[in-house]
Amino acid sequence: MRAVVFEEYGGPAEVREVPDPVPAGHGAVVRVEATGLCRSDWHGWMGHDPDVTLPHVPGHELAGVVEAVGERVTGWRPGDRVTVPFVCACGGCPSCAAGDQQVCERQTQPGFHHWGSFAQYVALDHADVNLVAIPDGMAYATAAALGCRFATAFRAVVQQGRVAAGEWVAVHGCGGVGLSAVMIAAASGARVVAVDVSPRALELARSFGAARCVDAAGVPDTAAAVRELTGGGAHLSLDALGSPATCAASVGSLRRRGRHVQVGLLPSPDGTTPVPLARAIALELELLGSHGMAAHAYPGMLELVGAGVLRPELLVTRTIPLDAAPAALAALGTAPGAGVTVIEPWSR
Ligand SMILES: [Zn+2]
Ligand SMILES: [Zn+2]
Repeated sequence: MRAVVFEEYGGPAEVREVPDPVPAGHGAVVRVEATGLCRSDWHGWMGHDPDVTLPHVPGHELAGVVEAVGERVTGWRPGDRVTVPFVCACGGCPSCAAGDQQVCERQTQPGFHHWGSFAQYVALDHADVNLVAIPDGMAYATAAALGCRFATAFRAVVQQGRVAAGEWVAVHGCGGVGLSAVMIAAASGARVVAVDVSPRALELARSFGAARCVDAAGVPDTAAAVRELTGGGAHLSLDALGSPATCAASVGSLRRRGRHVQVGLLPSPDGTTPVPLARAIALELELLGSHGMAAHAYPGMLELVGAGVLRPELLVTRTIPLDAAPAALAALGTAPGAGVTVIEPWSR
């Protein structure tokens, strides 16, 4: 099969022929019809993710068709249309038993722990625990966006963030996760303030339901701008980008008793990030993390997509062939871009 391979962190990534994967006894091989390009892939390529070993094939937001299953898989057959959460769970640890597969203790993430979906085929672990059927009529490109950002945003806003109608929700960073969060919060009846440095991202945020926008390129104190626009601060705020500055701005934009959800990854050399905890104490803020979403939680989200309440397909701004993927991966470092780029590994 053809796959995007790199042998050096931050070094050249190239499309080449590699052996086709075979399924583990509990696993499945999926023919990749569409796979999203995500900033996490860039972090993996740059060597920011300790789970990535070399040589490596990135890619974790995929949709496609089951090609083969292992002998112990009972729920899936070749030909099934599927997607998968980027956190593939083991199904057997205490967290899985509690229904919290998104924080599985023995999780495997395609494109991080093992070769991912910037390829014509990908092997996935524990198929019966992790595969999710794609509804009829949903395009593969749309389904690919669900596997990471949309599902991640859904859990961050609805489950961890406990959004309620009429609340103010601030979204810091309007890339794929942020725009998804804007759409989900607005569809939940919240009033959304979108914050980004890119006019194009803010334009998309507005079209996805943001009531107010803060142009972070021209506003030195975005937290103060959000507090001003919301009459005292947001009830719920998300750092959807993942940087010390946006994390602090998100915490700073909350009203008393507000909830901050950290959803953007925060890689740093020593694994720590400064957070204004004094404010969290004084205002009784809640500081929460959010990490993907378990496969069993997908049907509730898919129902809203099917009903047209949520429209993840609007996030997909371009599709590219596999040959264009290495350059697009490298470009994420300098120009994260607005919306979602989807790679179609079988198109030329
Ligand atoms: Zn992702
Ligand atoms: Zn587990």
